[in-house]
Amino acid sequence: MKKYILPAALLAVFEAVAVTLWLTKDNLFYLFNFSYIGASLALGVLLFTRGYRHARRVAQLLVGGYMLVYLGLICRENMQTEGFWYYLFTGVFEAATIHYAVAKLFGPLLFGRGWCGYACWTAAVLDFLPYKQPKRPRRKLGFIRYIVLALSLVFVASLFLAHVGNMERIMFFAFIVGNVLYYAVGIALAFWFKDNRAFCKYVCPVAVLMKPASRFSLLRIRCDKEKCVSCGKCKSVCPMDVDVTDNSRSRANGTECILCLECVKNCPKKAL
Ligand code: SF4
Ligand code: SF4
Ligand code: SF4
Repeated sequence: MKKYILPAALLAVFEAVAVTLWLTKDNLFYLFNFSYIGASLALGVLLFTRGYRHARRVAQLLVGGYMLVYLGLICRENMQTEGFWYYLFTGVFEAATIHYAVAKLFGPLLFGRGWCGYACWTAAVLDFLPYKQPKRPRRKLGFIRYIVLALSLVFVASLFLAHVGNMERIMFFAFIVGNVLYYAVGIALAFWFKDNRAFCKYVCPVAVLMKPASRFSLLRIRCDKEKCVSCGKCKSVCPMDVDVTDNSRSRANGTECILCLECVKNCPKKAL
């Protein structure tokens, strides 16, 4: 029964969010939205516990595909950082602000950067590229993410200060252009650095928002020092360069862990 605890807990958390938002916002959409996302994530984790190799991909495609195609392109919600700033400035606690609150600002206190491992539609494509394990050491380029986040804030603030009309339409086009750029830059960087997740490490502004809470994440990979034989396999397969055998909260790249469980799958001593 132990292996059903995590998927059941995930489903319960998302159901609680779904019902709370449905009742407080009097909008049935939230019940459907968060129930679907919770069920998809729970299914991914359940498949993993049953040993299915592509379990994480299933969750990525179910959640990421739904968000990109249905919420983004059909419902025209900008769920990138520009959309977050936009709804924040308008003072509306809807769409992108709720999405950011649940998945990226407060949710990481519970499930760290699970968003990046199981739901992000950009990474869902990047993870299919050939460089699943980084071929070179991580570079000190993470500062670029902060610059990109600041630029997105400046972009949206400028639109407000200039009293530009038709903001909803601009946000929709910004979403499309932003996604095309993310995919283009992400794929180019993956081949350049021989690292599928180079975009996540150096460019993506969303990571900046998730890092503070994910440092205190309840769900995290821990190492049983009694079993570990220091073979180094876990670090060599980690796509995010996490020093996973160090159990401290300040371990190297600890806030970069996307809970992909590659280290767990590959540990010969089942120490993780
Ligand atoms: S860092 Fe950005 S692009 Fe990478 S998985 Fe997270 S949200 Fe997606
Ligand atoms: S793969 Fe397992 S045994 Fe090897 S260093 Fe990592 S935790 Fe220790
Ligand atoms: S391999 Fe392990 S430490 Fe690295 S990102 Fe995945 S779950 Fe986290």
